[in-house]
Amino acid sequence: MNSKKLHPESLMMSYGYKPELSEGAIKCPIFQTSTFVFKNAQEGKAFFELAYGLRDKGENEEMGLIYSRLNNPDLEILEQRLTLWDKADDCAVFESGMAAISTTLLAFLSPGDLLLYSNPTYGGTDHFIKHVLTKFGVHIVPFDANASKESIQKTINESGHGDALAMIYIETPANPTNALIDIEMCHEISKEYSTDDKKVILTVDNTYMGPIWQHPMDQGADLVLYSATKYIGGHSDVIAGAVLGNSTDMAAIKGMRTFLGNQTSPNTAWLLMRSLETLKLRMDKQEANAKAVADFLLNHDKVERTYYLGHLAEGSAQAAIFKKQCLGTGGMVSFDIKGGEKEAFQFLNALKLIKLAVSLGGTESLAEHPASMTHAGIDPEERLKHSVSDQLVRISVGVEHPDDIIADITQAFNA
Ligand SMILES: *Cc1c(COP(=O)(O)O)cnc(C)c1O
Repeated sequence: MNSKKLHPESLMMSYGYKPELSEGAIKCPIFQTSTFVFKNAQEGKAFFELAYGLRDKGENEEMGLIYSRLNNPDLEILEQRLTLWDKADDCAVFESGMAAISTTLLAFLSPGDLLLYSNPTYGGTDHFIKHVLTKFGVHIVPFDANASKESIQKTINESGHGDALAMIYIETPANPTNALIDIEMCHEISKEYSTDDKKVILTVDNTYMGPIWQHPMDQGADLVLYSATKYIGGHSDVIAGAVLGNSTDMAAIKGMRTFLGNQTSPNTAWLLMRSLETLKLRMDKQEANAKAVADFLLNHDKVERTYYLGHLAEGSAQAAIFKKQCLGTGGMVSFDIKGGEKEAFQFLNALKLIKLAVSLGGTESLAEHPASMTHAGIDPEERLKHSVSDQLVRISVGVEHPDDIIADITQAFNA
C-alpha cells in the first residue's frame, strides 16, 4: 500500500517508525538521550558535512543522528507525521508555539526589512513583533483583519519601506472573534512585492483551525505555524509548537532552531505523537459540539450575538472567504452576553463543568473573558474596534457530551 495515499488519520499510529530499529516495540520509545554514538569516525564526519551544509546529500544517503539539539528520532517521526495533514515538505517542532513563531520571524527578517502583519494577533506574537523585532531594526506595519486588498497595498506603500517587504504574517481566524482574513488575497500581495532575488514569505498562524479545518498552503501560504499546545496536543498538558513549509524555507528555520536551541524535548515529542493518534476524532467531536453550543447560544435571551464560523451571514464577504479556505467551522465559540463585565463574570463564575481558564483546543471545555484576560494588554480603544468588549465571552468547546455542556451554560445563565 502506498502510504502517501492513505488518509493522515490512518497513518498517525505508524508513519515514519520502524519497529525493527527499536527491539520490535509497537510504539516509538522515548529516545531520552543527548547524543548518539557514531559507527566510526568517517560516519561522524559525513553526518557533520550534511548538518553544516558543506556538501550535497548523496543519492540514497540518509542524514544520521548526531546530537539531540540537531535531531532525535522522536522529533523526526513527529515532524514527518505533522507534514501529512498540511501536505508540507518538512516540519520543525518547538518547545512552545512562541518558540516556533519567534524562530520563524528571526530566520526570515533582517534589519531594514518590513513585516506586514494582521491585527489583532496572539498577544505573545504582538509583543514579540512590537517590542523585540523593532529593537533589531525591523520595520513593522499592521493591517486590520477586515481590510481590503487596496487598503493593504496602500498601507505597505505609505509605510515608506514597501521595497523591503520581507514577510506577511497573518492569523486567521482572528482570536477571539473568528474574523477571517483572505489567505489567497495575501498570497497575491506577497507575489506582487516579490522580486527575482527576494521572495516575500506568507506565514499563517493556523492554531485555531489546524491541522484539520484549514490548510493555508492550498491558498498559497509559504509557512504554516502552530501552537501545538492547542488542538495538536489537545489535552491541556503540554506546551509545544510547530512550523511547516517547503524544504528550502524549513532548512532556514531548522538552522535557526539549532542555534536558538528551542527544539522540543524527546518527551514532549512523544506526548504529541500520542495526541496525533486521536487528533481527527477529537477535532471532529469538538466541531460537532461547538455547533450544538453555538446554535443554542444564538437564540438565547441572555445572548446579544455570537461570533462563530457557522453563523456567518449568507452572501457576506466573510462567508465567501470561509467557503474558499475553511474545511470546517472549528471548535471556538464567542458571544456577547447581555450586560457588561459584571454579567460576564457572574456567568463565568457560575460554570461548573466548563473550566474558567485561558488556552484552547483541549479535550475539556474552557471559558474565559478576553477583555480582562487574553487581550488585557491591548489598548482599550483598539480592543473595542475588534469587538473585544466587556460583554465578550470565549468558549473552547471540548469533547464532553454536548447536552452536559449546554446544561452547564444554562445553569450558569440562570445563576
Ligand atoms: C496559544 C497561541 C500561541 C502561542 O503558543 P504557546 O504554545 O502558548 O507558546 C500562538 N498563536 C495562537 C493563535 C495561540 O492561540
